[in-house]
Amino acid sequence: MSRSLSSDAPSAETDVLVVGSGPGGAAAALFLATYGTRTMVVTRYGHLSDTPRAHITNQRTMETLRDMGLEQRLMREATPWEWMGNTTFCTSLAGDELGRIPSWGTDTRRHHDYELQSPCTMLDAPQTITEPVMMQAAQARGAKVRFDTEYLSHTQDGSGVTTQVRDRLTGATYGIRSKYLVGADGARSKVAADLDLPFEGPGAVGGALHIIFEADLSRFVEYRPSVLYWMVQPGSEKEGVGLGVLRMIKPWTEWMLMWGYEVAAGPPEITDEFARELAVNLVGTDDFEMRVTSRLPWTVNHHFATTIARDRVFCVGDAVHRHPPTNGLGSNTSIQDSYNLAWKLHHVVQGLAAPSLLDTYNTERAPVARQIVERANQSIADTGRIVAALDVDDTTDVGKLNRQLALRKAPGPEGEKIRESLREAIAYKAYEFDAHGVEHNHRYASAAVVPDGTAMPAFTRDPELYAQPTTWPGAKLPHTWVTRDGHRVSTLDLAGHGTFSVWTGIGGQAWVDAAEAFSAETGLPVVPVSVGPGQPFEDPYGTWAELREISDGGVLVVRPDLYVAARHVSAPDSAGTAAQWLRHALTSVLGTALDAK
Ligand SMILES: Cc1cc2nc3c(=O)[nH]c(=O)nc-3n(C[C@H](O)[C@H](O)[C@H](O)COP(=O)(O)OP(=O)(O)OC[C@H]3O[C@@H](n4cnc5c(N)ncnc54)[C@H](O)[C@@H]3O)c2cc1C
Repeated sequence: MSRSLSSDAPSAETDVLVVGSGPGGAAAALFLATYGTRTMVVTRYGHLSDTPRAHITNQRTMETLRDMGLEQRLMREATPWEWMGNTTFCTSLAGDELGRIPSWGTDTRRHHDYELQSPCTMLDAPQTITEPVMMQAAQARGAKVRFDTEYLSHTQDGSGVTTQVRDRLTGATYGIRSKYLVGADGARSKVAADLDLPFEGPGAVGGALHIIFEADLSRFVEYRPSVLYWMVQPGSEKEGVGLGVLRMIKPWTEWMLMWGYEVAAGPPEITDEFARELAVNLVGTDDFEMRVTSRLPWTVNHHFATTIARDRVFCVGDAVHRHPPTNGLGSNTSIQDSYNLAWKLHHVVQGLAAPSLLDTYNTERAPVARQIVERANQSIADTGRIVAALDVDDTTDVGKLNRQLALRKAPGPEGEKIRESLREAIAYKAYEFDAHGVEHNHRYASAAVVPDGTAMPAFTRDPELYAQPTTWPGAKLPHTWVTRDGHRVSTLDLAGHGTFSVWTGIGGQAWVDAAEAFSAETGLPVVPVSVGPGQPFEDPYGTWAELREISDGGVLVVRPDLYVAARHVSAPDSAGTAAQWLRHALTSVLGTALDAK
């Protein structure tokens, strides 16, 4: 098809236009296409990510992919949970080991916390795996994808957004008209800049060199499998991510090394010789062969937007939260932003919710942007405790560093102090490597949640380290195993799939009837879930009864993103009150009294 160069008139049209095919954009396209919303993606390059970049894939992200039917596919391609756990601190792979911290819930003492929280495992899945899995499914489900297409600008009006893009193969510019625009265009987001979103935080706080190379390092790591090995070496705590790092990409033959550089001075030239020198230092021997496949200087950021959307345009992912890879929150948060946004867009586009529902994206996710940027940067600062434990101010004082490392192995109070301080400093890194609460404890407060008048349950354990399930409105539906025809099924499997669900038990038939009647009247899909003896789902382990925080006849209204929207603790007085309460709850969340069909 020939296009005139530089046409301002829109020549393509869709309901939602997504800019970018990274984790945030690919996920937005996947969720929207699965729900049945007309979606188009434009992305700058002719390919998906060609470098592994983000990799830690947490349970919450896996739950979204399970909801999309993609969990098993990703598990087949990724490095499994049990190989992720021995985060090691050492002087080099071949050198002294200072200690290990069992990570990502792999330790016996933490594993049950993770298993209780989710039906999903943690995984190590670099972007080179996650992006194609999500984009292929999005395309198969109807999303239209235009590669080599660059976002240039947009204007919005009362009925939609007109976005100007450039076809990078022909140079032609043209417009795309959509009802809504999602900016998933990464840390240098032009969409966020064009929206003039307000940012907080110091910005660029350090530089990190990322060098990807192939080398068989099995003999140094196979017996302590992990995705991350951290090295205390002269200068390693300067800039970068806190220490020198070797990150596993493919066990145990593909690696990324990370080393800091001073942002103000700019990155050094990464020649093959320089890359080899850094790798030899981190491995601790030159007795290995390597082939450098990619090199990239990267900026460590501390920057988050305090408003992440304006009217019809929404930003997800690094576009609005820019932070270091510590805690592995990058692609996870980007995917979860899109999970929060997609069902809202779908319902509004379908005419099943008022546009005001979309405002709750900003209300619910902007606080998460702040939280994760601050957490990830704090984790770099916490790594400083490991250097401090050795009682060296500056690792470039090589003589002192070596003396302190030798003292660590010596009898006597000085050595004992170092040993104890190191153990404490490494254990403290649980705030990076076992921060299960950071991943799960979000509590949304917005117009898409109906408070039930109770106070948020206090956290009984450290909220950053431990996930605490609750059905308090605004929290995620707790996972546990119930049964259908005797077969085990997660509570999370009974909700989601783009629809609301209404959860009750024996004595709650009025809620089920009310949900079915409301659905029939308005066309809003609402799935009833009744759990109890003789009900469609049973609770033979009794754990749902422990977690649900309502009586048998009470009710939970659960949003398509698995968050509890409303709760009524007791059985309704009558069928009439059930119908009235449920109508109020759903129409409050949707922001509209839906018309009868
Ligand atoms: C070198 C590097 C290493 C990283 N390592 C890690 C790590 O180890 N662990 C971790 O958790 N995180 C890491 N990150 C961060 C992680 O990659 C991001 O958090 C994650 O990719 C964010 O996803 P996103 O979809 O928001 O943005 P991105 O993945 O950056 O995707 C942005 C998308 O937008 C497209 N795009 C940009 N501008 C335009 C435009 N004008 N028009 C059209 N398309 C456009 C891009 O081509 C891309 O498809 C790393 C990032 C980098 C750059």
